[in-house]
Amino acid sequence: MRSLVWFRRDLRVVDNRALFEAAKASTGGVIGLFMITPAQWKEHDDADCKVRFWLDNLAKLSAGLNKLRIPLRIEICDSFADLPTKVLKFAKKYKCSSLYLNREYEVNELRRDDDVAKACERAEVAVHRFHDRVFVPPGEILTKEGKFYSVFTPFRRVWDKRALDYIEMCPKPKKQTAVNIEPSPIPSEIRGFDFTDFRDDLWQAGEKEAQARLQKFSKKIADYNEARDIPSINGTSLLSPYLAAGVISPRQCLVAAVAANRGKIAGGGGATTWISELAWRDFYTHVMVACPRVSMHQPFKLRTRALKWRKSEKDFEAWKLGQTGYPIVDAGMRQLNRTGWMHNRLRMVTAMFLTKNLLIDWRWGERYFMKNLIDGDLAANNGGWQWSASTGTDSVPYFRIFNPFSQSKRFDPDGTFIKMMCPELSDIPKSALHDPKKLSASVKELSLDYHDFVVEYKEGRERALKAFKSLG
Ligand SMILES: Cc1cc2nc3c(=O)[nH]c(=O)nc-3n(C[C@H](O)[C@H](O)[C@H](O)COP(=O)(O)OP(=O)(O)OC[C@H]3O[C@@H](n4cnc5c(N)ncnc54)[C@H](O)[C@@H]3O)c2cc1C
Repeated sequence: MRSLVWFRRDLRVVDNRALFEAAKASTGGVIGLFMITPAQWKEHDDADCKVRFWLDNLAKLSAGLNKLRIPLRIEICDSFADLPTKVLKFAKKYKCSSLYLNREYEVNELRRDDDVAKACERAEVAVHRFHDRVFVPPGEILTKEGKFYSVFTPFRRVWDKRALDYIEMCPKPKKQTAVNIEPSPIPSEIRGFDFTDFRDDLWQAGEKEAQARLQKFSKKIADYNEARDIPSINGTSLLSPYLAAGVISPRQCLVAAVAANRGKIAGGGGATTWISELAWRDFYTHVMVACPRVSMHQPFKLRTRALKWRKSEKDFEAWKLGQTGYPIVDAGMRQLNRTGWMHNRLRMVTAMFLTKNLLIDWRWGERYFMKNLIDGDLAANNGGWQWSASTGTDSVPYFRIFNPFSQSKRFDPDGTFIKMMCPELSDIPKSALHDPKKLSASVKELSLDYHDFVVEYKEGRERALKAFKSLG
């Protein structure tokens, strides 16, 4: 019996449940398949850097699979709609009697997999689907009333107990019977995507790289509570692109964190806080599955649909380019534009600035992030944006609006990060970076080429409060 493993955002050999199960069950060899779907990726706003990162990881995956005598074949199929025919045709061509895959939970992906499964099963190709992407399967953490948790803290309490049930990793897949099929070459270009600015110095591909990052981070995980909010240092794991592409499994991360935490999942300290971040990742996926409208451009809090967002293309452009006149906001946006990644503290600051101070629709920002992030993930990105815009699950009230100057004073006190991203401010004394009046005076005095405030802080804040208050 020969099996087909369809890889998607699970680009790894180690601890990959679908691959492991296929390798365990097959007697006539295993073939890997990856479908390049350019039109669908465009429709989903997948970033150029993310697609390029997928390709780099496919090359590593193909080499790893080859050692197990599993060829990785790559096919192009513009949209999800054509996949049932295409996957089935592929399975038949290579005489595969089973299809193995890890589940994905976004609306289009769920529908895609159901359609492929139906087509295969009709043609007597058995389909085996596995839960692998988050710890606890969506729908399994429910309140006493059988509802999903819409607030993180009680979710986390239950998650702590349940996640350990899913922590066991898969052993390394065994070497397969040779199938005499060549692996496909990895394309270096994909129609519609531009890889010229990709930072391969920052984002090296492969499971080895992901594991090295995890090991390095595990050694300093105890400092995470203090270090995680300081953008000028590497105080976080920088694993999000690898988790998003499935180059590392969440289980591998949790095992390392629990080991660093003397075998405990909770109990305070840096490791516990980091485990919380993994739980947030699960939480937003669970919310997306329980409430699919959030992934279809709808707010979680329905009453916020009536909010009158400003449609200022000019202000949006200033935000996108990092030209708002607010140093910490500009530094964050420039980090995103230059590297394809942004520090979590700055994601919150920039997202709140757009949706509150500029009163621009969170969906505009969500889309811009998705189009530029190497770790773009629908559930996490949507969750982060709706949190910042006060339209989401969070209980934080709308009147909590970050003051960008207090944020930079707290998290970039010496202006190290700001000056790295905004070199035109290098000669400004640090106190002026965190004080609007001193900033304007210094910019004038030193004749710096730095932008005026896109909106005065107080004016923007009051405009946002008024708009939210009018919702009643
Ligand atoms: C507006 C906004 C948009 C965001 N968009 C994304 C996105 O598209 N993809 C993404 O992976 N994360 C997103 N995040 C969450 C978070 O900013 C990143 O996961 C984090 O900055 C990645 O860096 P790291 O790997 O060093 O994180 P670490 O601090 O080392 O955390 C470890 C892992 O936990 C997960 N994680 C951490 N924080 C969160 C969170 N708040 N929500 C969900 N998962 C989390 C990530 O997988 C991360 O790699 C967003 C946050 C905000 C506020």
